[in-house]
Amino acid sequence: MENEEIRVRFAPSPTGKFHIGSARTALFNYLFAKKMGGKFILRIEDTDKERSSEEYTQDIINSLLWLGIGWDEGPQVGGEYGPYFQTQRLGSYKKFADKLLEDKKAYKCFCTAEELEAERTAQHAAKQAPKYSGKCRNLTPEQVAENEKAGKPFAIRFITQEKKVDFDDLIKGHISYDAGLIGDFTIVRSDGMPLFTFAVVVDDYEMKISHVLRGEEHLPNAAKHILIAEAMQIMPPQFGHMPLILNTDKTKMSKRKDPVSVTDDYRAKGYLPDALVNFIALLGWNNTDDQEIYSMKELIQEFQIERVGKSPSIFDREKLLWMNGLYIRHLTVGELASQAQNFITDKELEDKIMERPDFYLQAVALVQDRLKLLSEVQEMIKFFFFPQEYDAEVLIAKKSDKTRTALALKLAEEELAKLTKFSHDETESTLRAAAQVNELQAGEILWSVRAALSGSSASPGVFELLEVFGKDESLKRIATARTKLA
Ligand code: GLU
Repeated sequence: MENEEIRVRFAPSPTGKFHIGSARTALFNYLFAKKMGGKFILRIEDTDKERSSEEYTQDIINSLLWLGIGWDEGPQVGGEYGPYFQTQRLGSYKKFADKLLEDKKAYKCFCTAEELEAERTAQHAAKQAPKYSGKCRNLTPEQVAENEKAGKPFAIRFITQEKKVDFDDLIKGHISYDAGLIGDFTIVRSDGMPLFTFAVVVDDYEMKISHVLRGEEHLPNAAKHILIAEAMQIMPPQFGHMPLILNTDKTKMSKRKDPVSVTDDYRAKGYLPDALVNFIALLGWNNTDDQEIYSMKELIQEFQIERVGKSPSIFDREKLLWMNGLYIRHLTVGELASQAQNFITDKELEDKIMERPDFYLQAVALVQDRLKLLSEVQEMIKFFFFPQEYDAEVLIAKKSDKTRTALALKLAEEELAKLTKFSHDETESTLRAAAQVNELQAGEILWSVRAALSGSSASPGVFELLEVFGKDESLKRIATARTKLA
């Protein structure tokens, strides 16, 4: 396809929630297009009417937009080669199917579902691979006319040449496929709906698609596409099939047991789109250097189809979580606070945040370092607004005991009460001095005060907490802790 514009498409079927594997396919197409100064097209393959739905189409669109993978042509934006929904392109499929019939490269098949099933069962019993017998290929024009007159439904089958189909896959390298194994396959169902294998060829041709990058599961279909393209006397696009994505235990990712929905398992759980994009970009990418953190802009710069490896990629959730934490730390406090607000589900907490937005910002700033997911914010900041129930044991530092902790808290309360300025530095020097004078370890007093303020053994630092809470609230919580311990 020399001198032609690079045009790639992402062609999902809206038959389920948008899958993380599809997100990778979309992203690689997008990166390839942007890198090469080409166009990225979104085409919705909705010919499987029973399984397709508007809701799933919307989920594809929302997920892509959330990930920042915008399309140059497709639903909502339109384009020169539309429509971009296959169900709106039936006229095109009919035109090409009729031409194949006319050219005797396809035929009408009147076999019923029962007949075909019986054929497959017999082949199975004889330990043969399933393959259509080609029965209707030899019907005379009279027989065809008779069947049609009798109102028998028919599918359109493509005549598969028994030959080797050779092509160079951009990722998998040279592929040689024995078409003799395929048999004549259906390209249009008896209800007039094209099969995906055929519709894709028509659309890719009409939409001037130069490259098809998609998952490895489609590799066998490429041979069919190429045969159809040959019969239609058109140039097929160049293919590139991306490796499978596996779980860390090398099993295949499954819709039922693994978190694969971009919306439900990632967006709703508090992942950041930039982190997810960064992570999925590295799935299948042979890194030549150690760099792991890439912005979309850098990904576009660095993208090379040659960098995509042949072997399966491992979806390491721990790594994704780590990466998400890293991206969270790179947000400004304001960005984090506003994004995390979408994950506050506790009504009372929500009201408190509305009442004291500045305090919310301060609380968020103090937990930012420990966050891996936006959804963790709620649990982590609750104690700022509502003193939490806790066990008195929490107040006692390692290697300390109840008596020493009681003393530590008493001293803390007395000394902090004297302060007129309640800053980080003031409270620090006060508590450290109190520990020293009374022969306590600094750690004992700092631990117990921190636990008194947060009600937990894991929380931000004590001086930061004291400053954010202020004198009155801090003293109140220390007093409560003392009562608890007594
Ligand atoms: N509609 C197909 C799918 O969702 C993709 C077809 C293609 O990329 O060629 O699996």
